[in-house]
Amino acid sequence: MQGKIIRGIGGFYYVHTHQGVYECRARGIFRKDKEKPLPGDLVSISVLDETEKKGNLDEILPRTNSLIRPAVANVDQALVIFALVSPKPNFNLLDRFLVLMEKQEIPALICMNKTDLASDEMVAEVRGRYRTSGYPLLFVSAAQKEGIEAIREYLRGKTTTVAGPSGVGKSSLINLLQDGVQMQTGAVSEKIERGRHTTRHTELMWVEEDTYILDTPGFSSIELFDIEKEELGGYFPEIAAHAGDCRFRGCAHLAEPDCAVKEAVDNGEISKGRYENYQLFYEDLKKTAGYG
Ligand code: GDP
Ligand code: ZN
Repeated sequence: MQGKIIRGIGGFYYVHTHQGVYECRARGIFRKDKEKPLPGDLVSISVLDETEKKGNLDEILPRTNSLIRPAVANVDQALVIFALVSPKPNFNLLDRFLVLMEKQEIPALICMNKTDLASDEMVAEVRGRYRTSGYPLLFVSAAQKEGIEAIREYLRGKTTTVAGPSGVGKSSLINLLQDGVQMQTGAVSEKIERGRHTTRHTELMWVEEDTYILDTPGFSSIELFDIEKEELGGYFPEIAAHAGDCRFRGCAHLAEPDCAVKEAVDNGEISKGRYENYQLFYEDLKKTAGYG
């Protein structure tokens, strides 16, 4: 039988299948391998005890990717949640997150929660900032249960890592997505098993057929690790789109003449806020590389 590892704890792997969740041990064969089974792995298992729901992990199917933080395999996309107000969006943090996702080649979706508390100006500011970035932007309200179906459509058929600073309403939104699970399938036990609001180890949650989400702990800072300043422009899609037209190859888009990126900022094709964060991050990377 095939399934997906939803969590691994102390040598046990919990595998979600069409017949429910099986507690599996990895056979000795895996211990020799460097590749440890990860949450998100598609696996084939053999059932040892149907009533106790115990099985053996026989094989890990080929991975599309694996992330390090958090350790998880086969992530299709990232949903990053911020609030429009309380807390106010920290665009520096959001743009850092987006850079890390670009680096790892994980498509990102931006979800702005708490529209019920936000002014039209705030919504317009966010739209303007990301208009030419290419990232899908979702405006939702967990409190008013608005926009939940739109999120669900983006999640459908995929494994999505869900991230955001604390207080933005991530748990509220995940609970709403999970409510659907309860209503549609009566899978109450899976929801209860998840435990409330605490995300201590990596765990996937089943939302619907072939659709999983990974809740990750709320973050308050993001370090741009393992990135060279020369790579940075490539991780801002709207900057990358213009960089080929700069006069100099390897243009850093800072003080160089005939820079197509700066021209794009001047004529509004790249938002000022995004470009300013590019400059900030560039300076940061210069320092951490020890050249500053
Ligand atoms: P998390 O830390 O990101 O998981 O955030 P929570 O889901 O725990 O929500 C943090 C606080 O924001 C709680 O008091 C929620 O009731 C509140 N909250 C969440 N979503 C909304 C929303 O859409 N509108 C409003 N007004 N409050 C919200
Ligand atoms: Zn340039």
